[in-house]
Amino acid sequence: MPLSGLQIYKLLPQTNCKECGFPTCLAFAMKLAAKQADLKDCPYVSDEAKAKLEAASAPPIRLVEIHGGDGRLAVGNETVLFRHEKTFYHPPGLFLHLQDSEDLQALGAKVAEADAYEADYVGIPLRLDGFAVEAASGDAGAFAAAVSAVRERSQKPLILLAPQAALARAGLEAAQGTRPLLYAADGENWEAMAEVAKSADVPLAVRADSLEALADLTQKLAQTGVEDLVLDPQVSGYLDSLHRLTAIRRLALKKNFRPLGYPMITFPGQAQGADELLLAAEHIAKYAGFIVLDHFDQAELYALLVLRQNIYTDPQKPIQVQPGLYEINNPDKDAPLMVTTNFSITYFSVANEVEGSGWPAWLMVADAEGMSVLTAWAAGKFDAERIAKGVKAFNVDDKVKHHKLIIPGHVAVLSGELEEELPGWEIMVGPREAVDIGSYLKAMWSAS
Ligand code: SF4
Repeated sequence: MPLSGLQIYKLLPQTNCKECGFPTCLAFAMKLAAKQADLKDCPYVSDEAKAKLEAASAPPIRLVEIHGGDGRLAVGNETVLFRHEKTFYHPPGLFLHLQDSEDLQALGAKVAEADAYEADYVGIPLRLDGFAVEAASGDAGAFAAAVSAVRERSQKPLILLAPQAALARAGLEAAQGTRPLLYAADGENWEAMAEVAKSADVPLAVRADSLEALADLTQKLAQTGVEDLVLDPQVSGYLDSLHRLTAIRRLALKKNFRPLGYPMITFPGQAQGADELLLAAEHIAKYAGFIVLDHFDQAELYALLVLRQNIYTDPQKPIQVQPGLYEINNPDKDAPLMVTTNFSITYFSVANEVEGSGWPAWLMVADAEGMSVLTAWAAGKFDAERIAKGVKAFNVDDKVKHHKLIIPGHVAVLSGELEEELPGWEIMVGPREAVDIGSYLKAMWSAS
């Protein structure tokens, strides 16, 4: 919980010596509270006060980062309970659970298939984030071989499910050059696991079946010097997940309870009597940082990734595409020219319909601050002046021979003003719905 200016002032020397560049300690404290000054500018602040001030300015949920050969994932550092309050910043990573007891060839094939999966969602590539390899055999050699087999086929980050120090060491050695999450310390093994995590400088997951036990363990682990921790509260179903994951997030954010101020890991496929897909969806919404899936199914993964994308998008900033002149189906200078706004979903609806119709066309995307056609028009962000400016700014004349512009049917009202803004142009009113573009062009388009 950030401190107020007055709380900070009480921790300063209160001598008003001015060496920090401010006339009084209070003025400096106020600037510190507003994050417009740096504590190191006061040479006289005591070590004890410094520790308190630094602890108060640390994020309530620690940011934990892992990386593979080239993929990186950072989770935590969230500041709100509800997305509509501000935004969620670090989407949870989705990992596929693998076991070292599987045949290595079959395991490799599974990794290759999941690693190659990529879907496009309004111009955003969606992918699985990594693999969680379990030392199910209990054999260090088999575990290391499985980790190596995964790394041969994927550069994505790893979670090593190896709750014994010897197994953890073998896995970490095979994962050298990456920063995996090590899973997990518990009431029995925490000292040995802390030693392994500390020497390899990797984050360590902590598991316990009660919040009290979890908080007790994180405090012990923090004292050993392991700072990057991840919590596994071992949730077991829909209601239990909602209660415990929310309680942890609430305690971290609202009570500034540091022992539970870490990201969380869940295993939705392991819960009794719950559907893995539904439970994973719940964990995305509230409030997992790492989600380990037992099954890889493209359709299910797509649903989860789209859900995650929507929840972890700033609600105050619409998803936008870059304004400009886009080519669809290799248009020539006689191809139809259409205009729409730069709201991603609008752009992709129009572009997909034109592409699917087979018509070569030019699509001019006007800067409407990421709003859809009607919303932008009502807000004065998609008007004749902006469209005419786009025609000039994107050098449409260099690419298109004719002077015909098709506008969305919903803004037919703009045609008169546009003819004034673009003298010599014919403004055509297109269909209201993108799905009708193909039949509209067939019936209405002629470049001559
Ligand atoms: S340098 Fe420190 S003691 Fe001096 S005025 Fe600034 S805050 Fe106060």
